[in-house]
Amino acid sequence: QHLLGRIDRLDGQLNSFITVTYDQALAAADAADAARSAANAGPLTGLPLALKDIFCTRGVKTSCGSKMLDTFVSPYDASVVEKLATAGTVSLGKTNMDEFAMGSSNENSFYGPVKNPWDLGAVPGGSSGGSAAAVAAGLVPAAMGTDTGGSIRQPAAFCGITGLKPTYGRVSRYGIIAYASSLDQAGPMARSAEDCALLLNAIAGHDPRDSTCVARGVPDYAEELAAPLNGLKIGLPSEYFGDGLDPEVETATREAIKVFESMGATVREVSLPHTHYAIPAYYVIAPAEASSNLSRYDGVRFGHRCENPADLIDLYKRSRAEGFGDEVKRRILIGTHTLSEGFFDAYYKKAQQVRRLIRQDFLDAFEEVDVLMGPASPTPAFDLGANKDPVSMYLQDIYTIAVNLAGIPGISVPAGFVGSRPVGLQILGNHFTEARLLNVAHQFQ
Ligand code: GLN
Repeated sequence: QHLLGRIDRLDGQLNSFITVTYDQALAAADAADAARSAANAGPLTGLPLALKDIFCTRGVKTSCGSKMLDTFVSPYDASVVEKLATAGTVSLGKTNMDEFAMGSSNENSFYGPVKNPWDLGAVPGGSSGGSAAAVAAGLVPAAMGTDTGGSIRQPAAFCGITGLKPTYGRVSRYGIIAYASSLDQAGPMARSAEDCALLLNAIAGHDPRDSTCVARGVPDYAEELAAPLNGLKIGLPSEYFGDGLDPEVETATREAIKVFESMGATVREVSLPHTHYAIPAYYVIAPAEASSNLSRYDGVRFGHRCENPADLIDLYKRSRAEGFGDEVKRRILIGTHTLSEGFFDAYYKKAQQVRRLIRQDFLDAFEEVDVLMGPASPTPAFDLGANKDPVSMYLQDIYTIAVNLAGIPGISVPAGFVGSRPVGLQILGNHFTEARLLNVAHQFQ
């Protein structure tokens, strides 16, 4: 009730929620109280949180930030939602996001932009900007996001919170509205690495309803948090400290890295030579998968339907023209083009080959070092409305996108400020090393 009151008082300024589920939240809180009275409580029982509006939630509007799904009420829960409910958490609602998770600033939402709680003139980052802003403003202690090319880590960095993108396949994608299926992954956004560890414990693990979800044991992610960092080998990718990096972000990042040295870690420079191909490869692969995933919104089965269609083709055309925003349309066009006969080999296949090289860069680096560190984003949060050109927006993703192409995990932790705007340190590890990343992040905090 306290947090629902805060949301009522403060979210008019931030716009971080699309839907607040008052009744369901109070009912879930009562159930949590009952579990506690029956001595049947776990570590997350009664924990209030919020869900990015990309997670299907039974009986609740699930819009994905789009007019297309403005009236869509999901008939089922995503696996992540089900698991969090089973753990006893209390969802307060659904957070704002870039339409279909396409964006780096939360300015592409049908429901309007989200403001950064540290500076209302700044963006919160995207696409999980509502989740990041809600946690930073103390509206919820934790929220769920998804990360296809940085959408957990970059808004976490911009809002001064901790956000973890797990290894691809660690968390089920069942019931998460698909953007780019080979890249999408859900993860926790919270005030600390410890909180992220407890949440990952609840959501990780095999799910037969997602064929890409890996059948592999789930460790207790909270168990190794306290391990000392003596002898930790840190690599600094030289490509992550080059042109385009804001000097004050660089200073904050390097200061943070010195803290690890003082804890007994060693630091050396490494190279990820294909880094500068990551943005072009991603912006071929992600739109290609998106154009295929978004073909289901046809005005027939669910979502927006135009008025008085003349015939079936008119129904498809106008429903899609009215339901999708500009950025989504741009990506459908790019994806349709790169998948079309005659262009497939030149673009899509080439991008997949580049993706393989990018993955190999990381695997080679992890032969030498335990973790990689660098900035989460080349700049701190930028002003609302400042980045109008799509290509300059895509360049924001330079340090986050390769991670999704490689399928490895990454975490962003708060590492100081530039003026009033937070800076995030990004820590990357090899596949399935979430426990190590959380340990390293926790020791820094
Ligand atoms: N900013 C990237 C994009 O627009 C990543 C988004 C995401 O991770 N969902 O595609």
